[in-house]
Amino acid sequence: MKFRKIKKTGEEVSILGFGCMRFPQKDGQIDEVKSTKQLRYAIDNGLNYVDTAKIYHGGKSEPFLGRALKDGYREKIKLATKISPWLVKEKEGMQKHFDEQLKDLQTDYVDYYLVHALNRSSWDKMKSFDILEFLDKLLTEGKIKYAGFSFHGNIEVFKEIIDSYDWTFCQIQFNFLDEKYQAGLEGYHYAIERDISVIAMEPLRGGKLAVEPPKKVKELYKNTGSEWTSVEWALRWVWNFPGIVTLLSGMTEDEHIEENLRIASSAEIDVFSEEQLNTVKKVADTYKDLLQVGCTGCMYCLPCPYDVSIPGCFEHFNSKFLYDDDKYYKSYKSFIGDRGKASNCVECGVCVPKCPHGINIPEELKRVAAEFDVRPDWDQK
Ligand code: SF4
Ligand code: SF4
Repeated sequence: MKFRKIKKTGEEVSILGFGCMRFPQKDGQIDEVKSTKQLRYAIDNGLNYVDTAKIYHGGKSEPFLGRALKDGYREKIKLATKISPWLVKEKEGMQKHFDEQLKDLQTDYVDYYLVHALNRSSWDKMKSFDILEFLDKLLTEGKIKYAGFSFHGNIEVFKEIIDSYDWTFCQIQFNFLDEKYQAGLEGYHYAIERDISVIAMEPLRGGKLAVEPPKKVKELYKNTGSEWTSVEWALRWVWNFPGIVTLLSGMTEDEHIEENLRIASSAEIDVFSEEQLNTVKKVADTYKDLLQVGCTGCMYCLPCPYDVSIPGCFEHFNSKFLYDDDKYYKSYKSFIGDRGKASNCVECGVCVPKCPHGINIPEELKRVAAEFDVRPDWDQK
């Protein structure tokens, strides 16, 4: 495992962080035995940054971590979690939210505490609750070690937030498909020029860059003569940036952990050649041509009161175009089912403000429905 230093504190964090929103599941719940084993295995192999949030796994991620990090594992890691603006209804609610987190996590303090998924409206809301004074109070009391924020708004808001406080770190969506999306590369530079360390989330764009690449992308990678996997290209590209201290990977399978640990043991800064950077650019352009909806599968939009399987619909829709393969009609039918299909959307709009990527969910679902639900074989048994 390689480590990098947080600029303002000199604290070393592993370049691979464990994102705790995609643990393996069993019967609709976190598979605690498997997830504990995986998490501890990663920690035993050098990973020391674990990132969760109150809302992950429908509120089950933090209590699970409280149990999984027993037996001395809490002391081995830097624990990161977040205050969720959409769960806090009034100023006084912030302390209650935080106290619940400490209790669930079975700890006396949080190492890295973030204001979660900020954008224009959530930033304005949290400012009206005096969030910055609240962070100062937690820092003074020793309840948190460092303050930061995660971000899903536009670049102007990002700069405004950066300039508003003495942040130690920030967390942005960072992968080669999103150089110009949200904070993007411009935000990355803006932060590091102010000595604010950057943590990368969605390095594999919600897993899109981890699954088998489309034919055209495979060709581009093959032409380089390199044996890197598609995951390797995507992660090494992120780690190539000197200001990225760690990246968060939501690892569900044992093989994901093995592969990520392997790559993290040899990733370096500023090592991509011109040719490699060009390849990545062509790969990104190819994905952008093929992907229909910028959904990362984060599930923040769920539950839909009408049971529409929003991320599942987008996942199948994107895959159909990425691979130009009819099999996604069939898997849409069997995995999404009549209950979760796109045409069940009544456009109530409940999901729209919850999407950190600003996707117009009902409009995009109409495109999914037009592609899948009107197929004559939908009703065939
Ligand atoms: S707009 Fe459609 S998908 Fe969104 S919550 Fe309402 S019914 Fe569900
Ligand atoms: S539609 Fe938006 S909120 Fe829902 S899973 Fe996709 S990215 Fe996340």
